[in-house]
Amino acid sequence: MPDERKTLEQRAQMTDLERLRHSCAHVLATAILRIWPEAQFAAGPPVETGFYYDIDLPHRISPDDFERIEAEMKKEIKANHTFERLAVSRDEALEMGRSGRLAALGERREPSRFKLDIIEGIPEGEEITFYQNGDFIDLCAGPHVMRTGNIGAFRLTSVASAYYKGDEKNPQLQRIYGTAFKNKTQLEEWFAMLEEAKRRDHRKLGKELELFAFDDDVGPGLPIWLPRGAALIEELEKLAKETEFAAGYQRVRTPHIARESMYLKSGHLPYYKDSMFPPMELSEAPESVEKLKDRKENVSRVISAKLRPFLNKIYDDEEEATSAGAEAFEAIYADTFEFFEANRSPENAERYYLKAMNCPHHHKCFGAVPRSYRELPLRLAEYGVNYRYEQSGELFGLMRVRAMQMNDAHIYLTPEQFEDEFNAVNQMYLKYFKIFGIEKYLMRFSTHDPARLGDKYVNDPELWLKTETMVRDVLQRSGINYVEVPNEAAFYGPKIDVQVWSAIGREFTIATNQVDFAVPARFGLVYKDRDNTEKTPLCIHRAPLGTHERYIAFLIEHYAGNFPLWLNPEQVRVLPIGDEEPLVDYAKAIHAELRTHGVRCEMDLGTDPIKAKIAAAEQMKVHTMLVIGHRDLEANAVSVRIHGQGNLGARPRAEVVAELLSAIRLRSP
Ligand SMILES: [Zn+2]
Ligand SMILES: [Zn+2]
Repeated sequence: MPDERKTLEQRAQMTDLERLRHSCAHVLATAILRIWPEAQFAAGPPVETGFYYDIDLPHRISPDDFERIEAEMKKEIKANHTFERLAVSRDEALEMGRSGRLAALGERREPSRFKLDIIEGIPEGEEITFYQNGDFIDLCAGPHVMRTGNIGAFRLTSVASAYYKGDEKNPQLQRIYGTAFKNKTQLEEWFAMLEEAKRRDHRKLGKELELFAFDDDVGPGLPIWLPRGAALIEELEKLAKETEFAAGYQRVRTPHIARESMYLKSGHLPYYKDSMFPPMELSEAPESVEKLKDRKENVSRVISAKLRPFLNKIYDDEEEATSAGAEAFEAIYADTFEFFEANRSPENAERYYLKAMNCPHHHKCFGAVPRSYRELPLRLAEYGVNYRYEQSGELFGLMRVRAMQMNDAHIYLTPEQFEDEFNAVNQMYLKYFKIFGIEKYLMRFSTHDPARLGDKYVNDPELWLKTETMVRDVLQRSGINYVEVPNEAAFYGPKIDVQVWSAIGREFTIATNQVDFAVPARFGLVYKDRDNTEKTPLCIHRAPLGTHERYIAFLIEHYAGNFPLWLNPEQVRVLPIGDEEPLVDYAKAIHAELRTHGVRCEMDLGTDPIKAKIAAAEQMKVHTMLVIGHRDLEANAVSVRIHGQGNLGARPRAEVVAELLSAIRLRSP
């Protein structure tokens, strides 16, 4: 919640840039008041891309007003006022609010009503502070830059509406967004990057390159992968499977659903319930009734035979007796079913859930056979499909979906094996970063908060400290780029989120690593140790390639859709100049040869002029185009054209084929 009150510690953690941007929000308020002195202000925090301030004002602010507001902001920055901090008593604060002096340039007829409300919410005993720049005084805990002149460069970006404190029962306010940087160059680079990101938008390119689609009948947040997108997926899985196989992983396959009891055991229910799809309810009739159904004909005959002596006494006619027998059977049969149908109540139903994570299934794979210490570390991997119920407003292209294929694995190990194994996982990340040309990354190491043990975190203080120390040691020793974030761990252990930056400098969180010392015990997982005693293993959850959905969204932006040869959905297209039979046969022979070697090769045998064929291939960002004319045919050659590089000239066919195969095998960038 952006409107949630920040703790003093969180405020102290504001980065320099956040401090600068938040200060700019004060300058924005100052400027707005110079134009509309009656404006009322609510909250004005920094956000990931800049800052905003929530304003109540009869005039509807539109981007047409930005120039005027920005001009006033520039004056305030030029005046280079200091941000002065004033500590006040609660009474003084309330008095100032009532006189309309908060978030204002002077006293006003109307009280500063949102500020008064915020003061009410400040806990007793917490210091109340004002910050003043020039005439503008605001209720604020800070921190700010020293002077307004420290704000190097800024721009207002948009205006939206927002409810006060995010609650729709509260008044609707105008939210003005802006961004600020240390200098003009950084500001301009930021907007240039945004423009480039728009051009590389994965939703736009996903459509143009026919990678994936969404369909109303399939449902929101459920991408369908078209052949070109599926090719990307297959290639990523191949990479993961090869890498994991070499690192000693074993693959498992598990169903997409499981009984409620499993998620109660794992603790996902009830805590994670809101993120899971609602359950499927199955109410099965007792087995004996099902059998009765199957053998209806037989049973009918047996009953008739038993009833026959009685029926014969009642009815003179043989036929009448038979039909009365059948009627009696039908009545008994129908009653029995009615009884069981009536008893299929929801309370008797069994509930099954779509899996929102693979861990519980993998724990069951570990527990399915007796385990010995000799098997550890045991690494169980699966590209498992998970289903999560994201609110429809949260869905966003491939970044936020309801079905996701995860590069998952769970490693069961002893504490002594932790360092080597955790290091190996990190090395795997680095290997992938290299393959994908990811130059900037950061691991966010989230730890627990001792004050929240037993509520937010598993209550085992010693294990927390021990595990966190182990993780920290490995991170430090391996020289991996990381930061430590307190109080953001998972319930059952410390967590590492991996952030990567795309080629244009945009940040993506693509993967997590978690150390789990609680759940294996909940599942009763044990191995026989050297001394013949049973012990519970630790578990590492890891997914270096995240989910296909998010990773591919990242890759589309990272490569701007120009996928390297090994990954490209269409690696090669053969383009004969004209449609004469010998040329077409030659194209088919090259196509067949490459296909035999597993190369995703297509050919364009249409009658379009070669220029149009090339343009069509370039548009789909096909990596290598092999153009063939009569001269190529005679020389058993091909003219190579690479997307984005143009024509590289004619070369012997065998040489080109060998080169393609080698580049694909090596996953050359
Ligand atoms: Zn402030
Ligand atoms: Zn897991």
